[in-house]
Amino acid sequence: MRVVVLSAEDDFDGWRDAARSLVAARVPPGEVVWQVGDAPCDLFSDEALDAVPDAPPLTVSRRFVDLARSVVLHTDPARFGVLYAMLVRLIAEPRRIEDMADPMRRRLEDMAKAVRRDIHKMRAFLRFREVEDDGGERFVAWFEPEHHIVRHNARFFVDRFNAMRWSILTPAVSVHWDGRALSEGPGATREDAPDGDPTEEAWKTYYASIFNPARLKVGAMLKEMPRKYWKNMPETALVGGLIAGARAREVAMIENARTAIPGGNIVSAWQALRDEAAGCTRCPLHLPATQTVFGEGPVDAAMMFVGEQPGDQEDLAGRPFVGPAGQVFDRALAEAGIDRRRIYVTNAVKHFKFEPRGKRRIHSKPGVGEIEACRWWIDQERALVSPRTVVALGATAARSLLGRTVTIARERGRAHELNDGSQLWITVHPSYLLRIDDPGRAAEETARFVDDLKRAGFFVP
Ligand code: SF4
Repeated sequence: MRVVVLSAEDDFDGWRDAARSLVAARVPPGEVVWQVGDAPCDLFSDEALDAVPDAPPLTVSRRFVDLARSVVLHTDPARFGVLYAMLVRLIAEPRRIEDMADPMRRRLEDMAKAVRRDIHKMRAFLRFREVEDDGGERFVAWFEPEHHIVRHNARFFVDRFNAMRWSILTPAVSVHWDGRALSEGPGATREDAPDGDPTEEAWKTYYASIFNPARLKVGAMLKEMPRKYWKNMPETALVGGLIAGARAREVAMIENARTAIPGGNIVSAWQALRDEAAGCTRCPLHLPATQTVFGEGPVDAAMMFVGEQPGDQEDLAGRPFVGPAGQVFDRALAEAGIDRRRIYVTNAVKHFKFEPRGKRRIHSKPGVGEIEACRWWIDQERALVSPRTVVALGATAARSLLGRTVTIARERGRAHELNDGSQLWITVHPSYLLRIDDPGRAAEETARFVDDLKRAGFFVP
């Protein structure tokens, strides 16, 4: 039996180096014990184990490496062993990485997804409190992650709060930024973190002044904001009073969803969100349009496509991407090997904007105000579905997702990171392809579009 000792719970480099050596020595997964420091980890006794095949020099897909980087941050003690077992399997069958029906592959993907959600929660729900120490002003936050994500996330907070001196305390580790360097200390307790300060009062006043009950993110609260995070957020002290009476329907919905069977919550919340969007009057576009065209697809889809707005036929049918552009889209998806039944499809703006011309309704581009008003719905859809990859079809979708003007020619073909850690790919809207008169150029641009979809889909199971 080989014992591999890793230096920390999130020691990806240590796991990778050890796995390379083990494969080179043809050590079967069942003969390895993975250990972090002095603490032994579990073996992966519930997984079928393969012998290490004869193999050329070890190369693995980027997809597996990305998956492994996330999985290593999970708290499941079996994760290092399962990853090694998967690695051994991939040597013999590289395409196994694409097989989501494979139980081992699915187990790893579930772990990675849980880690990504935890990373997003820390970024969204952590709150700093101001304290004074010998060096002057310092900001301290308390957070209880579910997984080993603190070191991974520290760089995000350095980038965002670079000019502040801050500390993030968690039960397992604390990280500190002094304005120049990041350092690490032992874990802490809730009592080590301050409980409130004048900044907090100002924050509460600000929050109360901007609070709009009609914008209460019920969906996100259900899925992303467990009560354990509420106590870290000063504004949540106000939430009860602010929503009481104003949102009886949504509060009832929360209670219903909480008591629903596990896994049913997200579907219930999505249906409630869609029903709520059906009555949206946040911008004038609801007046002439037939109906709200909400997104559709599996609520646990790994991939989400965001278009601009419904067209004439979508407005009548009440479904996204069913008109001529939808047909171009479907053909391109099929060519790229992406199954539409497994993706979530929606639009940045949910009502059809048009100019009447005789009996016809001519598409009109939504303005920034309309995109911003409707952005609330797309944020809710993203919070619920939590896709790993989002594809913006056209500049309006990209603007909605990034909150800034986007030049497609400059930003297509590479991944961008969204605030929840998911990947964003930007490409053209399929209606653009329909507007190209020259057949040669249309074919060229369609091939580019398909390439963009393939590239985005490559990282998705
Ligand atoms: S376009 Fe969006 S924000 Fe405007 S009314 Fe429709 S759903 Fe509401």
